[in-house]
Formats: sequence, C-alpha cells, structure tokens
Amino acid sequence: STRALKRLRDLPAVTRDGTRVTLQANLELPSDVEQAVAAGAEGVGLLRSEYLFMNRDDLPEQEEQVGSIRHILGGLPEGPVTVRTLDVGGEKLASALGHHLGEATNPALGLRAVRLSLRVPELLETQLAAILQADEGGRLRILLPMIVNVEELRMVRRTLNSVARKLAAQGRPVPHPLPPLGVMIEVPGAALAADALAPEADFFAIGTNDLIMYTLAIDRGDERVAYLHDPLHPAVLRLIHFAVDVALRHGKPVSVCGEMAGDPRYLPLFVGLGVRELSMRPTALPRIKQSLRRLDASACQSLAEAMLREHDRETIQHLLESFHA
Ligand code: PEP
Ligand code: MG
Repeated sequence: STRALKRLRDLPAVTRDGTRVTLQANLELPSDVEQAVAAGAEGVGLLRSEYLFMNRDDLPEQEEQVGSIRHILGGLPEGPVTVRTLDVGGEKLASALGHHLGEATNPALGLRAVRLSLRVPELLETQLAAILQADEGGRLRILLPMIVNVEELRMVRRTLNSVARKLAAQGRPVPHPLPPLGVMIEVPGAALAADALAPEADFFAIGTNDLIMYTLAIDRGDERVAYLHDPLHPAVLRLIHFAVDVALRHGKPVSVCGEMAGDPRYLPLFVGLGVRELSMRPTALPRIKQSLRRLDASACQSLAEAMLREHDRETIQHLLESFHA
C-alpha cells in the first residue's frame, strides 16, 4: 500500500546488525526524479545522459544541458547526483552523432561511450562545462562509461581542468573542489586492472549489465544466446569481488548500478562482498530496502565467501537461493 511505502521511505536503509547501505536511483529522464524521491532515494547513482541526445537531429546546447541537470538537483532535496557522460554506440544510438559513429563492423567493441567523447572534443567539453555550471551546491559527481585504461581517465581529467579554467577566466562560478570523477567498471579488463584505475579514480560504479555481456561474450539483444546469460557465473562474481576489494583497499567509494543491483535475489551477495552503495530503477528501491532491513551483514559475508569458493552453476545458485539470514 502507499501508506506502507511511505513508512518504508522514512526508515533507514540498514541491515539488522547495523550495516548502512546507501540506496540510490538510476535515472533515464529528469522526470524520473520525482519517483526516485517518493521511493526514498538517497541520491542519484547513475544519470544516463543519453536522453539529452535522443530523438533529435542536433546536439543539445550547453545551456539546455545545464537546465536539465539543475532540474534534477532541484527535485532532489539532498544527496549526490552522478552524471554519466554520454554513453552512445553499441546498442545505444543518437542520430546527431551518427556520422561520427559510422558503420562499425562490431559496434559493441567499437567507437562508443567515453571513446566517442574523447574523439569529439566539443562533445565532451560541452558536457563537462554544463556539469560544472549546473553544480551550485557541490553535489554533482561525474561518471565515465566504458573505461578500459587509466589514460582515458587522465585525458578526461585534463579536459575537465581546462574547461574549469576557461569558465573561471570568463568570470563564471566554478565549483571548488571540482566534482569527483569516477569510472564505470563494466568491461572485464577494467575490473581486472581495477588497481591501476583506483589511485586516480575518485569512485567506481560497477555496471553489471555490460560486465556480464563482455565477460561471457553474449550480446544483450540476441535471444539465441540468452541462455548463457548468467549473473552468477564464477567469472562475473570474481570480477565484481576483485573490483570491490580494490576500491575498499584504496578507500574509494564503490557502487553497483546494473540491473543486478535492483534485484533482491542478489542483495545478500552484494552486502556480503562489502558493497555499501547500490543504484537502481526507482521502482526497485522499496523492495530492496525492505529486503536489506531483514539481512544480517555478517551472514551475508559468509555467504559471499562460500559462493566465491564454488564454480558449479547449480551449487552457486543453490547457496544463494537457500540463504535466509
Ligand atoms: C551497465 O552496463 O550495467 C550500466 C549500468 O550501464 P547501461 O545499462 O546504461 O549500459
Ligand atoms: Mg553499461
């Protein structure tokens, strides 16, 4: 009922044994912010900025982007808003950028996401300038999709610094310090080399959708290989485990923001792995909070350890399904 939901919204997201987990929202449109707030989101863990570029033939001006981000900040009373830079290419398209994307033989492995932003400097500069201009209360974070190496992160940081200098020279207010700059961990290579990224990334956001697709080499849209889609595949679990561990050792915040994060079945696993930040579809938030409040974090930790020791699909699944903490 709405009553029960309201009550739940005001209860803390905490396990029975007192472990706090921050529950945030993924937004695909600025208008999703109302639903996120109603569901008790403690911030936006992933703003997919693609909406600004879709269903149109031109590119959005800086002012339009500023207005859109401010709308979200205005709708959310507190908490960070994590703006992901444009993530087109692969299965996500934008017609104004079609001529840059061209005809890729293998779009999932081609020019896309941060690769496109680095190749089209005006695109990245405009988006970063818009984020800096919108960031009045210092609540924005910047997230880069499909990062595979630290050089990409460095190039974006250099651009961010130069954009900030340019704005300051024009007499515009620039947030100080600059917003945290984080990376998506959604390619197996990035997960395995997380220790190369951690010293320079301000935070990690693990994207399980793409991580599963690239790890198991299965197209998200090809039904003929859908039977291979397995979020609990040992390779996937090990990659998530390693990336989380690296982040914790470096004292960097780490969240999970793929579909898995909003599925209560996987919650004990994430809590057990040490994840303390989850971002999901706004509609998934109440269920996840309810499940979280029934969990015991130390029991979750034993569960995660047991799952990581196994390699048989059935055994791993059974461990999770029979877990009742
Ligand atoms: C992911 O890949 O898990 C993710 C969160 O990004 P998207 O679903 O937008 O590709
Ligand atoms: Mg992704």
